[in-house]
Amino acid sequence: MMSRVKIIIHGAVQGVGFRPFVYRLAGELGIKGWIINSSQGVFIDAEGNNKTVNDFLTRLKTDKPKNSFIQSFEYSYLDPAGFEKFEIKESKESGAKTALVLPDISTCDDCIKEIFDPNDRRYLYPFTNCTNCGPRFSIIKSLPYDRANTTMSEFEMCPECNAEYTDPMNRRFHAEPIACPKCGPQVELWNRKGEILTSKNEAISIAAELLLKGMVIALKGIGGYQLIADARNSDAVKMLRTRKRRNEKPFALMFPNLDAVKQECELSEAEEKLLTSVESPIVLVKKKKGVTSILSIECATGNPYLGVMLPYSPLHHILMRKLNIPVIATSGNISEEPICIDETSSLEKLGCIADYFLVNNRKIMRHVDDSIARIISGREMIIRRARGYAPLPVQIEGLSKPVMAAGAHLKNTVALNKDSNVFISQHIGDLENVESISAFKNVINDFEKFYEITPVLNVCDLHPDYISTKYIKELGGNTLQVQHHWAHILSCMAENNIEGKVLGVSWDGTGYGTDGTIWGGEFLVPNGNNFKRAAHLKTFRLPGGEKAIHEIWRIGYALLYDVFRIEAAKYINHDKKELVIIDQMLNKGINSPVTSSMGRLFDGVASILNIRQKVNFEAQGAMELEFAAELTESEMSTYNFEIEYNSEIMIINWHLILQEIVTDLNIGISKNIISAKFHNTLTEIILSIAKKLKFERVILTGGCFQNKFLIEKSISKLQKNGYKVYWHQRVPTNDGGISLGQIKYASLSSNPSPHREGKKAISL
Ligand code: ZN
Ligand code: ZN
Ligand code: FE
Repeated sequence: MMSRVKIIIHGAVQGVGFRPFVYRLAGELGIKGWIINSSQGVFIDAEGNNKTVNDFLTRLKTDKPKNSFIQSFEYSYLDPAGFEKFEIKESKESGAKTALVLPDISTCDDCIKEIFDPNDRRYLYPFTNCTNCGPRFSIIKSLPYDRANTTMSEFEMCPECNAEYTDPMNRRFHAEPIACPKCGPQVELWNRKGEILTSKNEAISIAAELLLKGMVIALKGIGGYQLIADARNSDAVKMLRTRKRRNEKPFALMFPNLDAVKQECELSEAEEKLLTSVESPIVLVKKKKGVTSILSIECATGNPYLGVMLPYSPLHHILMRKLNIPVIATSGNISEEPICIDETSSLEKLGCIADYFLVNNRKIMRHVDDSIARIISGREMIIRRARGYAPLPVQIEGLSKPVMAAGAHLKNTVALNKDSNVFISQHIGDLENVESISAFKNVINDFEKFYEITPVLNVCDLHPDYISTKYIKELGGNTLQVQHHWAHILSCMAENNIEGKVLGVSWDGTGYGTDGTIWGGEFLVPNGNNFKRAAHLKTFRLPGGEKAIHEIWRIGYALLYDVFRIEAAKYINHDKKELVIIDQMLNKGINSPVTSSMGRLFDGVASILNIRQKVNFEAQGAMELEFAAELTESEMSTYNFEIEYNSEIMIINWHLILQEIVTDLNIGISKNIISAKFHNTLTEIILSIAKKLKFERVILTGGCFQNKFLIEKSISKLQKNGYKVYWHQRVPTNDGGISLGQIKYASLSSNPSPHREGKKAISL
C-alpha cells in the first residue's frame, strides 16, 4: 500500500545541511515528493510504500545531521499524489516572517545526563535546559523569542552561562532559558501558610519524603501546578479525591521510567513512542492483566485504561528518581477550574488540597495543562491539546484576513490565524465557572497581543446561550456563527487537508442545530461553506433537560418509553412514582427537549444495561459502555435498525435496536456482548449511510469518536468496504477542535471557491 505524509519540522534545521540530508535519504529509500525551507520551518511531502514511509519518518530523526536538532516533528497522512521524483524546492523567503513560538519541550537526554552527573556544574539542578529542550510557550511574554522577552529576563546570566549562550558550537548557543545553580531559578518548599521550610535540593528531598508519608504536594511544573501523591497509597489518593472534590474521574499518573510503566501497562510500539516523545503527553494505555498492581485501586476505578506520563522536566526527573514509585500527577486546580500558575493563587486555591508546596521563582506566563493522547488505529490522537503541542499551527489556505474563533462551550479552545497559519490555543476548559470564563477571555487577549493581530472577523458557535457566543456577540463587529457539528467536520477536513465530496459523520453529546433542537447524531454533507443534513438519529426526549445528562436513567427510560410506551417501566428498576411523573413530562413535552444526540443514546443504553444510572463526569456512561464492549473483541454480530425517509433526510430509527437489546437482556446475554453488538450496529449504520449516499470518503469526528472501540471498528469496516476514512490526529475530535473548524468556515465564507455557488452563510 502506498502512503503519503506531510511533514512539518521546526527547530535548528536550517543552515546545517538538513535539506541535502533529506534529499539523500529520500533517494536511498526511494521516497518521492519534495522538501522546502521557509521561515516557518521545513516542509516535506513524502510518498512511498507504507514501510518505506515509516522508515523515512524514523530515520529523519535518528540520522539527522549532527548539528541539527528537531524541536517539533509533525506529520499527517494524505491521499497519495503520484509524485515521480524527490526534489528540493526553492525557499519561500518572501512575504512576512511568521515568528513561530514553539511548545514546551521535554528534557533531552543530554541534559538528563548532566543533571545526574555529580561532576557537572548542573548536577541535580531542576531548571537545566538547552536548545533542544526546555520551556518555551509557558515562559514567553512577547515575540520574538529572545531571553529578554521571557520570564527568564529576571535572571542575569553568570559568565559561564553567558559563554555557553554565545558560543555557536555549544549546545546552549541561544538557549533562551539557559540557567545554572549559580544564576538561575531555585525551588523552595513551603507550608500552607506560604512559609519557607527549606530550599534547593533539600526541598526536593524533603518533598519526596513527605510524599512517601502520604502527603499531597502541590508542585509548580512547566505550565502550572500539579498535585502529586503516592499512587500506591490508597489513603493518600482517597484524601486527594475528597479534597479535590473529584469523585470517580481517573487521575493521571507519572511513572519514574518506561520500565515501571511496562510493569503495570500493556504498551504497543506506537504507545511507547508517544510516551517518550518530546511532547511527552499523558497517554491512555491499557492496564496489564494478570499482574499484581502496586497502584491503589483509587487511581482509576472501573477503567481498564490508565493515563500515564513520564518525567518531562528536570524537576520531575530529580523527584521521580528519588521516589522511584508511580505518583498521581493531576492538575493543580479545584474541580474543573483552570490550573493555578502562581504562588498566590495556588496557596489560596490549593491550600486545602495540598499539604506542602514545592514552588520556584521562574514565572509561568500562561497556563498550559498536560496534554492527553491515545493511539487510534496505529496513529496518535490528541484528546487534550496543551503542553508539547500548543501553539503549533495548522495550515488553512484561503485566509486573507485575521479571524478569531471562540470555540464551543466544553473543553474550550480558541483559535486565531496569521495568514495561513492557524494557532489553536492550549486547552482552556469547560466555560462553566467564573475562573474558566476569565481564562477564556485572557487567552483571547493574550493571543491577540502576542501575535499582534486584530481580527477583522469573529466566529462562534450557533448556540445562543454559550458563553463563547455571548462574548463574541458583545464584541460586535463582523461575526459568523457556525453550526456545531458542521464545525467538527470542517475541523477534521482542515486537519486532513481535504476538500470536496465527502460524507461527514459528526457524533457527540450536544450541539445546537439549525432547527433549534439539540443535535448530535449527524451525517452532514459539505457543500462549499454550507452543508446538507443528510441523515440523523431519530430524535428522543431528555426528560428534565440538563438533569437527564447527569441522571442518565432518565434517558434510558425515555428511550424505552418511545419503544414500549406503558410497558417501559417493566424494563427499568426505578421508583415507579417518579416514573409516572416522567411519563407526564414525556407525553406533554414538559422540560423535555428533543435531541438526535449519539452521546445521549450511549448514555441511555448504558442505563438500560444497568451499567450506570448517574454520571459523575462527562461521558462516564458512554465510557463504561465502551469498556464493556472491549471485553468481547471477537463479537461481530449486530442489531437491526431501520432507515426512514423524511423528505430528503434519512432518519436512523433505533427502535429495533432497543427491542433486540431488551430481548437479549431477557434471555441473559451478557452486557459485554450486548454493548459490543450495539457498537457494531453503529459502525454498520455508518457504512449503510455511506453506501446509500454513494460517497467514497468518510470523515469521523465529534466527541463520540474518542471511543477507541467505536472508531477503530468503524475505520476498519469502512476501509474493508473500499472507503477512505479520515479522523483526527493532532487536533481533538472533541469540542477542543471546534475553534479550528470555525476558522476553516471563515476561510470558505470569505473566499468564493468553485464549490461554493455563491451561497450565503447559514444561520445568520
Ligand atoms: Zn536539553
Ligand atoms: Zn549560570
Ligand atoms: Fe461537539
